[in-house]
Amino acid sequence: MSSGAQTPGVEIDGILFDVDETLFDRRRAQRLVLVQMQQRLPTLLGHVSSEELSRAWTASDKATEDHVFHAGDLRAARDTRSRILLEELGRPADAESTGAITDAYLDLYAVVEAPIEGAHHVVERCGEAFCIGVLSNAYPDVQYRKLETLGLHDAFACILLSEEFGARKPDPSIFLEGCRQLQVEPARCLYVGDSYRNDVVGAAAAGMPCCWFNAISDPVTGSAKATIEIDRLSDLLLWLGLAAE
Ligand SMILES: [Mg+2]
Repeated sequence: MSSGAQTPGVEIDGILFDVDETLFDRRRAQRLVLVQMQQRLPTLLGHVSSEELSRAWTASDKATEDHVFHAGDLRAARDTRSRILLEELGRPADAESTGAITDAYLDLYAVVEAPIEGAHHVVERCGEAFCIGVLSNAYPDVQYRKLETLGLHDAFACILLSEEFGARKPDPSIFLEGCRQLQVEPARCLYVGDSYRNDVVGAAAAGMPCCWFNAISDPVTGSAKATIEIDRLSDLLLWLGLAAE
């Protein structure tokens, strides 16, 4: 399947993609979900301004982003975030309210339409030229449904999720497992992701080239270097020589 490609300074046979903020616009999705959650749960959330709800959600999300939960603890992980959300809003965080928030979130988040601009086209073009896969720090119940909502679930030769594998980016072991599943040598497997800390650092530690999709001009916070940095996902096609023009 792979034809190989010579890009400046690196030869590529395969590509592994991050999902959140790379193919899926997580921030936009969460804004859309919060609006729908207020409509679904008027007693719990109807009195809150959208700004206050957004602030509380961001706080709850940040407070739990580094928690390491495994498949058996999924519900506990979501309920912890829901509890912090209610506490941030000054609402009683009893089990019933916490559960209602978690249920609404799970129902809405995976099916909200929020692709990154150009994601479908980029994946399609890359898939015509290379072995491609997904490598994501994510919970399987939501992430597979998100890929289906994006229309991309069947586009990849492998989908590797941290909570199924047992290690999270930036641990190089999950990058090496992605290369193994894709059957591409790490040095010839490009990782495409938006996070310096997880993606650039992790790919470098695994000996992989990395395309840093840095749309929000995050600063470099370590010694690892991306092979290429882009601010539009479609620029990946230009670099790979796959753009139409
Ligand atoms: Mg990401």
